[in-house]
Amino acid sequence: MTHILVILETRDGVLRPASLEAVGAARIAADGLGGGTVTALACETFSADASSLGNAGADKVLIASATEHSADGAALTAARVAKELEASAVFLSATVRGKDLCGRLAAALESGFAADCTSAHTNGGSLSFTRPIYGGKALQTIQVNGPVVVASLRPNYFSSAERGGEAVVEETSAESGKGRVVKIAAKEGGRPDVAEANRVVSGGRGMGGESAWHLLEAVSDALPGSALGASRAVVDSGWRPHSEQVGQTGKVVAPELYIACGISGAIQHLAGMNGSQCIVAINKDADAPIFQHATYGIVGDVAEILPVLAEELAKVTE
Ligand SMILES: Cc1cc2nc3c(=O)[nH]c(=O)nc-3n(C[C@H](O)[C@H](O)[C@H](O)COP(=O)(O)OP(=O)(O)OC[C@H]3O[C@@H](n4cnc5c(N)ncnc54)[C@H](O)[C@@H]3O)c2cc1C
Repeated sequence: MTHILVILETRDGVLRPASLEAVGAARIAADGLGGGTVTALACETFSADASSLGNAGADKVLIASATEHSADGAALTAARVAKELEASAVFLSATVRGKDLCGRLAAALESGFAADCTSAHTNGGSLSFTRPIYGGKALQTIQVNGPVVVASLRPNYFSSAERGGEAVVEETSAESGKGRVVKIAAKEGGRPDVAEANRVVSGGRGMGGESAWHLLEAVSDALPGSALGASRAVVDSGWRPHSEQVGQTGKVVAPELYIACGISGAIQHLAGMNGSQCIVAINKDADAPIFQHATYGIVGDVAEILPVLAEELAKVTE
């Protein structure tokens, strides 16, 4: 029987949405491999919701007793649990924290590693993964030969299994690591992280400057749960923080809605947002490359279009 271990990510005691997606992916993979168990492990204490984790696809939730985050401690805890379960696969989210953990975990398990996967397959009884490479220009299929595979899954590409039921919640001990995270500074503005939001309002050099960002904030305010994003040109100019950068050297996003404002659509930017379900591009140049990838395109000046868009969206969403 297949055992898949999923490493949950929590922040301030709250489960991150990408973890439910990883649990759902594990459930579908376990079922596709002929049936098996999915165990979700939180490497720090938190109050687990047995219903939402069970509904996402977990049979069991293990909560380790660590009170603060340590990537190497979490890797040791996860490696021990994976060995105890004789897990054939360990899934994590390809978030900043997940990326910090997965290399350490793969090394601790001496396992093969599939990074930043956008789909998982169970053809012929074996597990394989797909991931975009060369800035999204090609798709690579990875199959790891060996007893265990560690795979990090890109947020927003997988979904909860929605199967109902409750997971069994148990406690386990936590290993201690040499390093620990002393402080995580909360992001200003109260908007979600761009990599996790289902709606992203993103600005490029065409916004004209930092002072124009209130136009994007107004659109974001009218779209509940949306995050602000930016192109590298904007970040390099110091208009917005690097945490908002979308693209090859920024964050990879795949929201339901991505609104690109004054962004030309360079390949390095597309690599970070081309998986979005609906792309709306606003650009004054009708020949801008972004329009080739947009679901809806608006040719015009952001200064004129964004206030109207914010006003109309507010009417629909209020
Ligand atoms: C190794 C490498 C990694 C990179 N990584 C990234 C990355 O992670 N993310 C990223 O974004 N880029 C990345 N880049 C940079 C990338 O190549 C582009 O330079 C960058 O994406 C351009 O940003 P932009 O679209 O905001 O600016 P521009 O290319 O200058 O485009 C501005 C657009 O705004 C439009 N515009 C101007 N004024 C208005 C207006 N008033 N109203 C409406 N539209 C207007 C223009 O028509 C134009 O299309 C990387 C480059 C390299 C070499």
